[in-house]
Amino acid sequence: MIVNRNRVVQTITAHPDEFAEVRNPGYIYPPVEYYPLAPRIHRPETLKAAMMDMDGTTTTTEVLCIHSLEYMVRRMSGLLEKHDWEGIDHHADLPFIIGNSTTRHVEYLLTKYKSLIRHEAVAKAFSEAAWWTLRHGNDDQRKAEVIQNLRKTGMADEVNKLSASDISIDLSGLLMSQLLTGDFTLLVSLGIDIYYETYHRILALLSSGNTAQVRLLVFGDAHASGHLISPMPGITFLLPLLKGWLGDEAHRLAPLLFEDYRRSTGKEVDERRKNILIKRLNELSLTFERQPAKLGLVTSSIFYEADIVIRQVMQVLAETIAASGLSEARKQNIIEACNDYHHWYDAFVTASDSNEIRLKPHRDLYSIALHKAGLLPPDFSEVIGFEDSQSGTVAIRAAGIGCCVAVPFAQTKGHDFAAATHIAHGGIPEVIIDHNLYLKS
Ligand SMILES: [Mg+2]
Repeated sequence: MIVNRNRVVQTITAHPDEFAEVRNPGYIYPPVEYYPLAPRIHRPETLKAAMMDMDGTTTTTEVLCIHSLEYMVRRMSGLLEKHDWEGIDHHADLPFIIGNSTTRHVEYLLTKYKSLIRHEAVAKAFSEAAWWTLRHGNDDQRKAEVIQNLRKTGMADEVNKLSASDISIDLSGLLMSQLLTGDFTLLVSLGIDIYYETYHRILALLSSGNTAQVRLLVFGDAHASGHLISPMPGITFLLPLLKGWLGDEAHRLAPLLFEDYRRSTGKEVDERRKNILIKRLNELSLTFERQPAKLGLVTSSIFYEADIVIRQVMQVLAETIAASGLSEARKQNIIEACNDYHHWYDAFVTASDSNEIRLKPHRDLYSIALHKAGLLPPDFSEVIGFEDSQSGTVAIRAAGIGCCVAVPFAQTKGHDFAAATHIAHGGIPEVIIDHNLYLKS
């Protein structure tokens, strides 16, 4: 139906006050889109569902991403070992290489470590990355981008050769003249391909159970302790709570939540308050046992990445539950559910369910998740959404969820969370302990 401007104005006037203005990339028409935002709901009566982001909210892949970014610089400089180059400056560089787009991260590092980059090393590293991505990669979008870069550098003929070859073909000769032009945009494009190759190789190792090899790559020691992918604080408590799986045993998992609270807020819960909280957590838990909330994971990562990452999260979750004070029967149930994340998630929505041009802050991924979880617009007032980024909070509200909680991650602290209904700097533990999940009491 075609309508005139008056009709549009009428419709818009009927909407509540707030709209999000979303700017599209230069190649999209129209340049700007407006989304009416769901009216803010500060305290829902009950919770039918919780929708949440993956990276920075449910888990962090920080360790792997930082390693892959540093390794990108190593490969583009040929300084592969620690005695060749100390590595990135964690203190100074971290704020610029986490929580933004991959392009931004790569641009930052290639600018900062410009003097280390050598054309021959870049050419060699890109040859390897292009070959691995086309030959062994699992992500069609990555393949398409590598092909695009090969075309851009006049190597369209090499695509089939690389895809068919069992060993990497050195494209250095063909690439060198392009690199000598000093085109920074080209260098960044190649850097992105090199970065993703490392990251996806690591994910492939993790997915085939080669954790020791990944530890060796990332920590320099196959037996190093520490998780490669960890749930964010509070997640190990929140997820089974919402599913109703803690029943009358929430108090047995509470010490874990108190510890996470201390980690993310820097504050201790004093003993007197603990007793009151435990009573309340048990009540909350019984409520969810009677009526479990649906759970949705909504991420701008592609399925290939999210699938592997969430499987790892489930492994850590199972280990933590096994070591907890829950009864054996309850442990068994939860650990079994960890074997397949579909037992947890009623909707598991990734960038692969949509397209690059429709990711957050557009509402699409959240709308798909709400639909997959079987929720209709009248239910949205009983949904809570969690995000650690600006674009994510806009997407939640634009999808019709009025109770949007920003849980800023160390690296997204500086984001503008104007779209969020609540901002919980202490993350999920603060949301549960200090605000009782923002439920109307
Ligand atoms: Mg995030």
